[in-house]
Amino acid sequence: MNISLLLQLANQHHSAGVIGLQTALHLVSHLNPTPNITILASSLPNTPISAENLNYTSPRAGAHWRSQGAHDAALDAPTYTHWRSLLAPIAPATGITKYGLAYIDSQYIWYKHTNETVDARGRGIWWKPLVDDFCVIPRWELPKDAVFGVRFKAFGINPVTYMKYLLSEVKRRAMEKGAREVNVIQKHVEGLCDAVKTVERETGETVDVLVNCAGMGARWLKGVEDEEVYPVKGQTVLVKGECKVNRFVDTGKGWVDAVIRRPGVGTILGVSKVEDDWSEDVEDDLTEKILARCKTLAPELLNDKGEFDVIEVCIGRRPTRPSGVRIDAEIISLAGKERIICHHYGHSGGG
Ligand SMILES: Cc1cc2nc3c(=O)[nH]c(=O)nc-3n(C[C@H](O)[C@H](O)[C@H](O)COP(=O)(O)OP(=O)(O)OC[C@H]3O[C@@H](n4cnc5c(N)ncnc54)[C@H](O)[C@@H]3O)c2cc1C
Repeated sequence: MNISLLLQLANQHHSAGVIGLQTALHLVSHLNPTPNITILASSLPNTPISAENLNYTSPRAGAHWRSQGAHDAALDAPTYTHWRSLLAPIAPATGITKYGLAYIDSQYIWYKHTNETVDARGRGIWWKPLVDDFCVIPRWELPKDAVFGVRFKAFGINPVTYMKYLLSEVKRRAMEKGAREVNVIQKHVEGLCDAVKTVERETGETVDVLVNCAGMGARWLKGVEDEEVYPVKGQTVLVKGECKVNRFVDTGKGWVDAVIRRPGVGTILGVSKVEDDWSEDVEDDLTEKILARCKTLAPELLNDKGEFDVIEVCIGRRPTRPSGVRIDAEIISLAGKERIICHHYGHSGGG
């Protein structure tokens, strides 16, 4: 892209999920001259989750840092190092308030061998040299029948706090770098053309670049209608108290028990992963199963009666594509003018 053109552009980010906001922050930080940014989304970081916005995934994320495989290294490694550098100069408590990130001890235990556990020293785990304080748990410390375990430092994330930080940072940097104030438009649009027309009407500027970070919405957005996008449903239980350690147990039966600190709010227990499950309901028996299985993983959170204090049960849809994340660009004629359309969606369980 010709950078000299960007000064005149209204760059529109078609989303206010974590991907759209992180993309906006990247663009505003790295492009010179700094583009003018408009964020258009039906749901924003301060939008409460409800049945109506079930396809808005980010506030429903677990969420923690854990790479699913070496194929994700290009995205996962910079995330880890970037977050660590964000927190490095400040007291951890400040980071929790501002960024919604808690950098804490994590533990992962397997009951069945996988590609990651084949080497007794953890060399099957590509991110071993990346994370801090990595160590293999000695065999005698593992629970009975467990085959492998590791400890490392990683992040528990409060996605709403993190997205609010991203949005405020996009606004701050845009002003600092001399772009116009960031416009935020909350509106559902039918498709790319509607998005362009909406932004041009609201801002009085020409949209030259449109960045589509619609997550699940990419499936229905006219001009995109990506039928590859499907949900991997997840159910989580938010409980009172912040766990000391993020803990995960891969049962080897297609299920990972998880205890994840949600800084400033409590702890997320879960987390189910059901492929192509479009159901819109919380499953009560699954909630009971999650609570029962997590008791031994987070005993510090149990009340006098030996139970968790449940705040909320939540379901979400991981925006998934069989061929993986879509990051590409094309030129499309919309509303009588050629526009650069960038696509960035389909992060599934690793957004
Ligand atoms: C239970 C669960 C646990 C998870 N745990 C983790 C984890 O531990 N770690 C991790 O990295 N990831 C995790 N994820 C995955 C992560 O949440 C997603 O990958 C990420 O949130 C996707 O973000 P997104 O911005 O692409 O989509 P979204 O957050 O859905 O954002 C899409 C945006 O586009 C807007 N939009 C869409 N269509 C339209 C339209 N037509 N008009 C206007 N606006 C539109 C929406 O309003 C929204 O603002 C988890 C997900 C779930 C469900």
